[in-house]
Amino acid sequence: MSEVDERYELGSVEISRDEIKRRVVDLAADIEREYRGQEVTLTGVLKGAAIFLSDLAREIGTTVDVRMDFMAVSSYGNSATSSGVVKIIKDMDTFVDGKNIIVVEDIMDTGLTLAYLREILRTRNPKSLKTCVLLEKPERKKVDSEIEYRGFTIADVFVVGYGLDYAGKWRHLPDIWSLSKTRQ
Ligand code: 5GP
Repeated sequence: MSEVDERYELGSVEISRDEIKRRVVDLAADIEREYRGQEVTLTGVLKGAAIFLSDLAREIGTTVDVRMDFMAVSSYGNSATSSGVVKIIKDMDTFVDGKNIIVVEDIMDTGLTLAYLREILRTRNPKSLKTCVLLEKPERKKVDSEIEYRGFTIADVFVVGYGLDYAGKWRHLPDIWSLSKTRQ
């Protein structure tokens, strides 16, 4: 492990698995109401949104024709200081033209990543384009990227778990945790 990896350890649970579950059920119900009788493609941004998307998808009932797709992006700079310039590492397989697309993302921090992604997807002429984020940090917002489905708003703390990592670690945790500095 690098020196950087050892600077932080798990702090405390910010959002418990039960709270997450309840909110995911609500978000799925909102999506179900809006897309009843239609097809919608949930498009997860890897890797952080993988767990959220798989839970969300399973809470949407049979009245919606749910499809799943994924994109992988890398922002230039590290995860703590997003530059907003996003490179698509893996594109969607779906032909977006005429489709209902919901971009599913783990967290909106500055909003630059989502603003950029929406701009790219908009050029592909979807029937509708919406964003579903589990977490939003309003204090850090730099651009107004619309969020139609929002899980929680949180303070400006770095969080891990439920898909979110720090240097590749802690994605698998069922709760969302803040980090604290390692005591030396
Ligand atoms: P934005 O472009 O909105 O500033 O950055 C979004 C990306 O930054 C997220 O997809 C995520 O990868 C990373 N990020 C921002 N805040 C956090 C955080 O608190 N925890 C983790 N694990 N990643 C974060």
